[in-house]
Amino acid sequence: MADDTRPQPPVSGRRFWISREEGPGEPDARSAVWNEFPEGAADPPELPADALSRRRFLALLSASAALAAASACSAPDRGTIVPYTERPDEVVPGVPNFYASCFAEGRRAHPVLVRTREGRPIHVEGNDRYATAPGKAPYRAVADLLGLYDPDRLREPQNAGRAVSVPEAERLLAEKARKAREQGLPVLLFTDAVLSPTRARLLAELRKVLPGLEVVSYEPALGEGEERVLRSLFGEAVNLEPRPEKAKVILALESDLLSGEDPALVRAFAAGRRPEGRREPLARLYAAEGRFTLTGSRADARFGVRTGDLGAFALGLLRLLVGEHGVSLPPGAENLPWPERPLSSLLGAGAGEREAEALARDLAENRGAALVVAGSHLPAPVHAAAALLNLALGSLGKTLGVWPWPTAVAPSGRGEAEAALERAAEGRYGLVLFWGGNPAHAFPGHPAFGEPRREVFVRIGLHEDETAKVAALVLPEAHWLESWGDFVPRPGLKALRQPALRPLYPAARQGEDWLLGLLRALGGQGAEDYARFLKERWRREEWPPESPVPFERFWAAALHEGLVPGTPPPVSAPSAGALGPHLCGASTPKGLELVLHPSPALYDGRYANNGWLQEWPDPVTKATWDNPLLLAPADARRLGLKDGDRVRVSEGGRSLESAVLIQPGQREGVAALSLGYGRQALSVARGVGTNAFVLLGREGERVLRGVEVEKIPGRKPVPTTQTHHRMEGRDLVRSIPLKEWARGEGEKREGHPLVSLYPDQEFPESKWGMVIDLSACVGCSGCLLACQSENNVPVVGPEQVLKGREMHWIRVDRYYEGPEEAPRAVHSPMLCQHCDNAPCENVCPVNATNHSPDGLNQMAYNRCVGTRYCANNCPYKVRRFNFLEWTAHKREPETLAFNPEVTVRPRGVMEKCTFCVQRIEEAKVRARVEGRKVADGEVIPACAAACPAEAIVFGDLKDPESRVSRLARSGRAYKVLEELGVRPSVTYLAHLRNGPEDSE
Ligand code: SF4
Ligand code: SF4
Repeated sequence: MADDTRPQPPVSGRRFWISREEGPGEPDARSAVWNEFPEGAADPPELPADALSRRRFLALLSASAALAAASACSAPDRGTIVPYTERPDEVVPGVPNFYASCFAEGRRAHPVLVRTREGRPIHVEGNDRYATAPGKAPYRAVADLLGLYDPDRLREPQNAGRAVSVPEAERLLAEKARKAREQGLPVLLFTDAVLSPTRARLLAELRKVLPGLEVVSYEPALGEGEERVLRSLFGEAVNLEPRPEKAKVILALESDLLSGEDPALVRAFAAGRRPEGRREPLARLYAAEGRFTLTGSRADARFGVRTGDLGAFALGLLRLLVGEHGVSLPPGAENLPWPERPLSSLLGAGAGEREAEALARDLAENRGAALVVAGSHLPAPVHAAAALLNLALGSLGKTLGVWPWPTAVAPSGRGEAEAALERAAEGRYGLVLFWGGNPAHAFPGHPAFGEPRREVFVRIGLHEDETAKVAALVLPEAHWLESWGDFVPRPGLKALRQPALRPLYPAARQGEDWLLGLLRALGGQGAEDYARFLKERWRREEWPPESPVPFERFWAAALHEGLVPGTPPPVSAPSAGALGPHLCGASTPKGLELVLHPSPALYDGRYANNGWLQEWPDPVTKATWDNPLLLAPADARRLGLKDGDRVRVSEGGRSLESAVLIQPGQREGVAALSLGYGRQALSVARGVGTNAFVLLGREGERVLRGVEVEKIPGRKPVPTTQTHHRMEGRDLVRSIPLKEWARGEGEKREGHPLVSLYPDQEFPESKWGMVIDLSACVGCSGCLLACQSENNVPVVGPEQVLKGREMHWIRVDRYYEGPEEAPRAVHSPMLCQHCDNAPCENVCPVNATNHSPDGLNQMAYNRCVGTRYCANNCPYKVRRFNFLEWTAHKREPETLAFNPEVTVRPRGVMEKCTFCVQRIEEAKVRARVEGRKVADGEVIPACAAACPAEAIVFGDLKDPESRVSRLARSGRAYKVLEELGVRPSVTYLAHLRNGPEDSE
């Protein structure tokens, strides 16, 4: 409850700050920080008042959100229970099965394991056999489990808005294609990136029966600069493979290197940031950027450079390297036209010329061990300059791999896609198949999507989305967890996708199956279904005929492992001279720059109906359920804007409206907006945020110049979580320079001699504990999603987040340090600390929270009467109260996503991290059956398993030789709020800084 009368905490003089209100920001807002709970947090539950909220209130059931009015009822009757009398051989009730599969998104594919219970997938995790990132899965792959059980999924084919049978839908599709062929009109297949060799083969077969087939393979979230530059450089479409594990110096140009989208990159980076000894050198990360990215937040030195100037920055650096550090230009680059801009003119607050000189020196001294990466949204001049730097530094083949695009279908640009849509609008195609992506959302207002149900438009998709609404025939697609496929996740490595269950809806088929049916109907050669088509191609093309292993065994092993290693085909030698036309494009930015980038949560909008991802706090801004316009503090002051103000953003005759959020560290003159929001369809997605695709021009330029921002009436607070669950403004993270650590100074801790009236607790067998290494943690927040999926953590919706009622059992606090124009950041995961002297336990009037013999602070939900004394008494603010009935009234089939090992909590009880007690018990039972003790490392909580940085280590503190015990004795180890004497079981390892001034 708000209480502004209490004395204010000392804000000045502290080193770390968590939001502008308590940092060097606006002093009048500090009371918001002092208040332990946001406004309305303790209000009695009530139905949302306005119509929008009421609609969301019902719609959000599919995102496991509130149904307050009905919350007094018991759980609904779900029908007759049928025992598992005829169980399949491979299923043992209560024992999970794992299936290897593969997640693909944009231009990346990643092998995963799908944990199933009694035939239904309940969790997605990494594949241990994937050597590049063993056991690690991209966070959106983990979250997309909810997509499988999305109640809004299409269940039946529809023709002109009426449900039809599958044979009828197939007949209608074939009829449209035949008609197009007879009329001599071409057919357009508008799809997303074709990463699968077998899918590409299917398209080649389809082309034989539809000679005029035109394929547009477009990924709206990704920029085209990199693709254009690489095509010029190598003469063909290629993929880059950054290898941070081989780099001693990394320069990230507004890059998403550490976003966790590719866990292999985070793992490789973090491995170089987790020193065992004091003299171990650490990799050094520099960042130059206009936005404040997650990667930039982890940089040892960060240059504030306007995004449009990044190309000039990279070229200025190259000039310094060549002119003063003896670096040679790559052959062919000698006569390239370089725009002349002195480095000093590009740098804003933060790292300056001295650091730029140190960067040049570091790069020059580490030739062959340096790496330059640029963000996928950046224009061609930046990618061209980054390529030149990498060529000059000898990174190619060492810290940067290059491999050919895995299929014959190369990515298309926005211009190409838009031209095809224009032809579609003019009626120049006999048939237009939209499969994957959501072009009506990515091309808002395009004339192609102006009319509902165009006769020649066919949609293959998961939902009745914006594109489905303009198609006459709509074909339901199977989810990737119900599908077959193959991918090339890394050079030469093939990964298989196999279904972890039969399609939940019998009429849903994977897109390839719909196309195979069409192929056969048009007289082409194709197997009965895509599973057979895939297997046959593998028999012909992937199985070495000279192999002594019969194909069936090879295939079974490949499906079991999910991976088949191989050798990548070579790529042609780069020709640096070809970069000239791209470098010439580097121009001087003017006015306010707007950077449009993929949403870390929703990507291009495909996950907009996923409540877990909507409510996932952005790792930097901590915003949920919105894509506010991010402004630099100085720009916000100049424009007279505060958090939550509404603005109109205009550029080139296009405009949109958005809420404002002020982002410390963002370069003055740069604004940022993420893509993927502003959907018009689906119950959870509709109306959340604003559609930034509106501002994308024909060339797909994502850095717009001369953008106008104008304040408009109204306010819309952005639901952010960063100031919730505060710990009274104490500094809870430790960050030390590498040189102090090397000198042993990191060990100088404030002593807290603790005296207790109580005797020490006895732990007869084990004492579970955790270590979190802040030096390895990159703040990606993948742990939060894994915990949510594993532990049935509900989604509460934006109105409840504004009241501080989000339910996440683990949060990732982001602390700033330094001035708001150029802060550093440290990320610190915070979860129940399972204190030995837990202050929550001794205030519970009904003993609902108590201690287990192996050191767990446990909750007996059916004892809890909801006094919330425990939450008030918890110094770490990690307890969450179920204000409303979040889960009992979910729409089917979403309940199938529940982990049956974890209780689904009702309204009125307190919940929090259990250290994944179900996983502990599973390991204990396994060990007991096998007559042994639980091995070190055998219990891996979901957050630790998901963490790509391997920053979380769990184990038995009673065993002095366990990894967790050894790490807990590290010189970097400290306990949060140790002085309270609660004796937490979680130990943190201090963050190490390795900037040029931080090492000796
Ligand atoms: Fe990401 Fe969490 Fe691991 Fe940190 S601890 S790197 S936030 S998954
Ligand atoms: Fe969640 Fe388990 Fe991690 Fe606790 S240990 S935060 S319950 S995943």
